[in-house]
Amino acid sequence: MKFIQDFIALFYPDLCLICDNNMLKHEDCICTSCLYRTPKTDCFKQKENEVNKRFWGRVKLENAASLFIFNKEGNTQKLIHKLKYEDGKSVGVFLGKQLAYAINESDFFNNINFIVPVPLHPKKQKLRGYNQSDYIAKGLSKILKIPINKKSLVRVENTDSQTRKKRFSRWENMMNSFALNNTDKLKNQHILLIDDVVTTGATLEACTHKLQEINGVKISIATIAIA
Ligand SMILES: [Zn+2]
Repeated sequence: MKFIQDFIALFYPDLCLICDNNMLKHEDCICTSCLYRTPKTDCFKQKENEVNKRFWGRVKLENAASLFIFNKEGNTQKLIHKLKYEDGKSVGVFLGKQLAYAINESDFFNNINFIVPVPLHPKKQKLRGYNQSDYIAKGLSKILKIPINKKSLVRVENTDSQTRKKRFSRWENMMNSFALNNTDKLKNQHILLIDDVVTTGATLEACTHKLQEINGVKISIATIAIA
Protein backbone atom coordinates (compact mmCIF):
# COMPACT_ATOMS: atom_id res chain seq x y z
CA MET A 1 0.00 0.00 0.00
CA LYS A 2 2.83 2.37 0.96
CA PHE A 3 4.56 1.48 -2.29
CA ILE A 4 1.44 2.30 -4.33
CA GLN A 5 1.03 5.64 -2.53
CA ASP A 6 4.65 6.55 -3.23
CA PHE A 7 4.23 5.48 -6.83
CA ILE A 8 1.14 7.69 -7.28
CA ALA A 9 2.89 10.60 -5.54
CA LEU A 10 5.64 10.35 -8.11
CA PHE A 11 3.21 11.39 -10.83
CA TYR A 12 0.73 13.41 -8.78
CA PRO A 13 2.67 15.12 -6.02
CA ASP A 14 0.76 17.33 -3.57
CA LEU A 15 0.76 20.98 -4.51
CA CYS A 16 1.60 23.82 -2.16
CA LEU A 17 -1.60 25.63 -1.14
CA ILE A 18 0.06 28.99 -1.68
CA CYS A 19 2.36 28.80 -4.71
CA ASP A 20 0.88 25.69 -6.41
CA ASN A 21 4.33 24.18 -6.91
CA ASN A 22 5.01 20.51 -6.27
CA MET A 23 5.89 19.76 -2.70
CA LEU A 24 8.61 17.51 -1.40
CA LYS A 25 7.68 14.35 0.41
CA HIS A 26 8.27 15.71 3.89
CA GLU A 27 6.28 18.91 3.20
CA ASP A 28 2.67 19.23 4.27
CA CYS A 29 0.05 21.75 3.02
CA ILE A 30 2.55 24.49 2.12
CA CYS A 31 6.12 24.30 0.86
CA THR A 32 9.09 25.27 3.01
CA SER A 33 9.80 28.50 1.13
CA CYS A 34 6.16 29.70 1.39
CA LEU A 35 6.16 28.85 5.09
CA TYR A 36 9.40 30.80 5.48
CA ARG A 37 7.89 33.79 3.66
CA THR A 38 4.70 33.90 5.74
CA PRO A 39 5.23 36.81 8.15
CA LYS A 40 5.52 35.72 11.78
CA THR A 41 4.87 37.78 14.89
CA ASP A 42 7.44 37.89 17.67
CA CYS A 43 4.74 37.08 20.23
CA PHE A 44 6.42 33.92 21.44
CA LYS A 45 9.62 35.80 22.26
CA GLN A 46 8.07 38.39 24.54
CA LYS A 47 5.37 38.02 27.15
CA GLU A 48 4.11 41.58 26.71
CA ASN A 49 3.24 41.42 23.04
CA GLU A 50 0.60 42.90 20.72
CA VAL A 51 -1.90 40.09 21.39
CA ASN A 52 -1.52 40.37 25.14
CA LYS A 53 -1.89 44.15 24.93
CA ARG A 54 -5.11 43.84 22.98
CA PHE A 55 -6.71 42.34 26.09
CA TRP A 56 -5.30 44.76 28.65
CA GLY A 57 -8.04 46.22 30.82
CA ARG A 58 -10.53 43.68 29.49
CA VAL A 59 -9.65 40.25 30.89
CA LYS A 60 -6.81 38.83 32.94
CA LEU A 61 -4.70 36.41 30.95
CA GLU A 62 -1.62 34.39 31.82
CA ASN A 63 -0.21 34.61 28.28
CA ALA A 64 -1.39 35.40 24.78
CA ALA A 65 0.23 35.02 21.37
CA SER A 66 -0.43 34.65 17.65
CA LEU A 67 1.83 32.92 15.15
CA PHE A 68 1.35 34.84 11.88
CA ILE A 69 0.61 38.42 10.90
CA PHE A 70 -2.57 38.70 8.86
CA ASN A 71 -1.84 40.90 5.84
CA LYS A 72 -4.42 41.49 3.16
CA GLU A 73 -3.59 39.53 0.00
CA GLY A 74 -0.74 37.83 1.84
CA ASN A 75 0.08 34.20 2.62
CA THR A 76 -1.69 34.25 5.97
CA GLN A 77 -4.93 35.42 4.40
CA LYS A 78 -4.73 32.60 1.85
CA LEU A 79 -4.17 30.05 4.59
CA ILE A 80 -7.03 31.34 6.74
CA HIS A 81 -9.31 31.33 3.71
CA LYS A 82 -8.43 27.69 2.99
CA LEU A 83 -8.96 26.91 6.65
CA LYS A 84 -12.44 28.39 6.76
CA TYR A 85 -13.95 27.95 3.34
CA GLU A 86 -12.26 25.14 1.45
CA ASP A 87 -12.70 22.08 3.60
CA GLY A 88 -9.73 23.15 5.64
CA LYS A 89 -9.52 20.32 8.16
CA SER A 90 -6.01 19.25 7.14
CA VAL A 91 -4.89 22.92 6.94
CA GLY A 92 -6.24 23.33 10.47
CA VAL A 93 -4.19 20.43 11.80
CA PHE A 94 -1.11 21.70 9.94
CA LEU A 95 -1.50 25.23 11.35
CA GLY A 96 -2.12 23.83 14.83
CA LYS A 97 1.18 21.97 14.62
CA GLN A 98 3.04 25.11 13.53
CA LEU A 99 1.51 26.96 16.48
CA ALA A 100 2.61 24.12 18.77
CA TYR A 101 6.24 24.34 17.57
CA ALA A 102 6.25 28.06 18.42
CA ILE A 103 4.73 27.35 21.84
CA ASN A 104 7.36 24.69 22.50
CA GLU A 105 10.13 27.13 21.69
CA SER A 106 8.80 29.90 23.94
CA ASP A 107 9.70 29.90 27.59
CA PHE A 108 6.48 31.29 29.02
CA PHE A 109 3.73 29.02 27.66
CA ASN A 110 4.17 26.39 30.35
CA ASN A 111 1.94 24.22 32.50
CA ILE A 112 -1.13 24.13 30.28
CA ASN A 113 -3.58 21.39 31.22
CA PHE A 114 -6.29 21.65 28.57
CA ILE A 115 -6.76 23.05 25.07
CA VAL A 116 -10.20 24.60 24.50
CA PRO A 117 -11.17 25.62 20.95
CA VAL A 118 -13.56 28.57 20.62
CA PRO A 119 -16.93 27.02 19.75
CA LEU A 120 -18.53 28.12 16.51
CA HIS A 121 -22.10 29.31 16.29
CA PRO A 122 -24.18 26.14 15.66
CA LYS A 123 -25.70 27.58 12.47
CA LYS A 124 -22.27 28.46 11.08
CA GLN A 125 -20.88 25.06 11.99
CA LYS A 126 -23.76 23.34 10.22
CA LEU A 127 -23.12 25.42 7.12
CA ARG A 128 -19.35 24.86 7.13
CA GLY A 129 -19.58 21.25 8.28
CA TYR A 130 -16.81 21.68 10.85
CA ASN A 131 -15.33 24.09 13.36
CA GLN A 132 -11.91 25.20 12.10
CA SER A 133 -10.68 25.78 15.67
CA ASP A 134 -11.30 22.10 16.50
CA TYR A 135 -8.74 21.13 13.87
CA ILE A 136 -6.20 23.71 15.03
CA ALA A 137 -6.66 22.22 18.51
CA LYS A 138 -6.10 18.73 17.08
CA GLY A 139 -2.74 19.71 15.56
CA LEU A 140 -1.71 21.44 18.79
CA SER A 141 -2.71 18.50 20.93
CA LYS A 142 -0.74 16.08 18.78
CA ILE A 143 2.53 17.97 19.28
CA LEU A 144 2.04 19.34 22.79
CA LYS A 145 0.48 16.10 24.12
CA ILE A 146 -2.16 18.11 25.97
CA PRO A 147 -5.81 16.95 25.94
CA ILE A 148 -8.59 18.92 24.22
CA ASN A 149 -11.78 19.84 26.03
CA LYS A 150 -14.66 20.63 23.68
CA LYS A 151 -17.52 19.93 26.07
CA SER A 152 -17.21 22.52 28.80
CA LEU A 153 -17.49 25.75 26.81
CA VAL A 154 -20.50 25.88 24.51
CA ARG A 155 -22.01 28.46 22.22
CA VAL A 156 -25.60 29.38 22.95
CA GLU A 157 -27.97 29.88 20.09
CA ASN A 158 -29.86 33.14 20.29
CA THR A 159 -33.35 32.12 19.28
CA ASP A 160 -34.84 35.53 19.76
CA SER A 161 -32.18 37.50 17.92
CA GLN A 162 -34.37 40.42 16.89
CA THR A 163 -35.40 41.29 20.45
CA ARG A 164 -31.88 40.74 21.67
CA LYS A 165 -30.54 43.13 19.08
CA LYS A 166 -32.92 45.80 20.27
CA ARG A 167 -32.30 45.34 23.95
CA PHE A 168 -28.58 44.68 24.05
CA SER A 169 -25.50 46.08 22.42
CA ARG A 170 -23.34 43.87 20.22
CA TRP A 171 -20.86 43.54 23.07
CA GLU A 172 -23.56 42.37 25.46
CA ASN A 173 -24.82 39.92 22.86
CA MET A 174 -21.34 38.48 22.49
CA MET A 175 -20.95 38.21 26.26
CA ASN A 176 -24.17 36.22 26.39
CA SER A 177 -23.30 33.81 23.60
CA PHE A 178 -21.31 31.31 25.64
CA ALA A 179 -22.26 28.93 28.43
CA LEU A 180 -20.55 26.35 30.63
CA ASN A 181 -21.23 22.66 30.90
CA ASN A 182 -19.62 19.94 33.12
CA THR A 183 -16.69 22.03 34.28
CA ASP A 184 -15.41 19.83 37.15
CA LYS A 185 -12.34 18.74 35.20
CA LEU A 186 -11.35 22.35 34.53
CA LYS A 187 -11.30 23.50 38.17
CA ASN A 188 -7.88 24.92 39.12
CA GLN A 189 -6.55 24.17 35.63
CA HIS A 190 -4.64 26.28 33.13
CA ILE A 191 -6.59 26.46 29.87
CA LEU A 192 -5.21 27.37 26.46
CA LEU A 193 -8.03 28.99 24.49
CA ILE A 194 -7.64 28.59 20.72
CA ASP A 195 -9.01 30.56 17.76
CA ASP A 196 -8.02 31.13 14.13
CA VAL A 197 -7.64 34.94 13.99
CA VAL A 198 -7.74 37.61 16.67
CA THR A 199 -9.19 40.90 15.42
CA THR A 200 -11.12 42.97 17.97
CA GLY A 201 -10.77 40.14 20.49
CA ALA A 202 -14.46 40.29 21.44
CA THR A 203 -15.09 36.57 20.97
CA LEU A 204 -12.00 35.53 22.93
CA GLU A 205 -12.85 38.08 25.63
CA ALA A 206 -16.35 36.64 25.97
CA CYS A 207 -15.01 33.06 26.17
CA THR A 208 -12.43 34.07 28.77
CA HIS A 209 -15.06 35.83 30.90
CA LYS A 210 -17.20 32.73 30.80
CA LEU A 211 -14.37 30.30 31.59
CA GLN A 212 -13.22 32.47 34.49
CA GLU A 213 -16.45 31.59 36.28
CA ILE A 214 -14.79 28.21 36.95
CA ASN A 215 -12.99 28.03 40.32
CA GLY A 216 -9.26 28.64 40.23
CA VAL A 217 -9.00 28.59 36.46
CA LYS A 218 -6.16 30.29 34.54
CA ILE A 219 -6.49 31.31 30.88
CA SER A 220 -3.96 31.75 28.09
CA ILE A 221 -4.80 32.49 24.47
CA ALA A 222 -3.14 31.35 21.25
CA THR A 223 -4.31 32.03 17.69
CA ILE A 224 -2.95 31.30 14.25
CA ALA A 225 -2.96 34.96 13.23
CA ILE A 226 -3.44 38.51 14.42
CA ALA A 227 -5.16 41.08 12.19
ZN1 LIG B 1 4.74 27.20 -1.84
